[in-house]
Amino acid sequence: MIKYNLNCENSHEFESWFSDSKEFEKLRRKNLLECIFCKSKKIKKSIMSPSLARTKKSFQLNRKDKNQLLKFKRDLKKLRNYVEKNFEYVGSNFASKAREIYYDKKRKKNIYGSTTKKEREQLIEEGIELMSIPWVDKEN
Ligand SMILES: [Zn+2]
Repeated sequence: MIKYNLNCENSHEFESWFSDSKEFEKLRRKNLLECIFCKSKKIKKSIMSPSLARTKKSFQLNRKDKNQLLKFKRDLKKLRNYVEKNFEYVGSNFASKAREIYYDKKRKKNIYGSTTKKEREQLIEEGIELMSIPWVDKEN
């Protein structure tokens, strides 16, 4: 599995997993990739870049983008509620707990917590599948 940071034509950024780089190209050629914010099919790989300020600005300027973002945030709350109900929170112990579960096949458990970038990379190298999701505050 390989994770790419992707960009759409409207400068939205999101992450997605692929089995390898060929799969990404195949899906892109067949127009099967779309932006999770605006459904645009014009997707390209991006290198991690500090373009947050630019993205934020375009949300403020563009009403459509803003509505999309609000919609997406509502879904993120649903996502968060689901995770909290069905997953065990392990906080910053995520990396070691994920290993415990991975190497002890009897224990099938859903967990969530926080990792550092380095921990994520190590887990992925060991073949442990992870998913990163954006996390929203419930309050706003
Ligand atoms: Zn987009």
